[in-house]
Amino acid sequence: MSVTFYLGRYVEDEQFGTILAPLADHTHSRPETCCEDAALYFGQCNHAEADEAACGCREHEVNVSNANAVAILERLGYDTDPECPAGEATGDDLLGRAVTGNIGHDDSGTPATVDGGPGTGRCTWVDCGVDAGYFTRTLERLAELATAAQNAGAMVVWA
Ligand SMILES: [Zn+2]
Ligand SMILES: [Zn+2]
Repeated sequence: MSVTFYLGRYVEDEQFGTILAPLADHTHSRPETCCEDAALYFGQCNHAEADEAACGCREHEVNVSNANAVAILERLGYDTDPECPAGEATGDDLLGRAVTGNIGHDDSGTPATVDGGPGTGRCTWVDCGVDAGYFTRTLERLAELATAAQNAGAMVVWA
């Protein structure tokens, strides 16, 4: 499971009222005839990703694991449900938190650990850990996303 931080904006939905929808109001799917085999196996041809990169609509999105999202949101000072990290913020708010979020926090990384497993009577629990500098790099990317939100007059959404 993972969490994506992306640009969103408020729109009126007939059924749900005011909702936060992705700013990129289009998808990059190609007609099935583009790459028929790929469409059959993967649901879309490989050109769709290249189209997306060329368009730039997802350029600033930040995708992280659920566990890392919880740790990042903690550094940013947002309350979050560890089972389901989701929320939104203005670009101004997120930018301020992203540039100060690592102050006073250790960013030397944590090793991957495995707990439980065969012979322990408990299921295997793998914690992938994080590389040194992970939070610095990720908060820098979130600061870029926040700046993009300011420029676009958009919200930053995570879910
Ligand atoms: Zn194709
Ligand atoms: Zn696009």
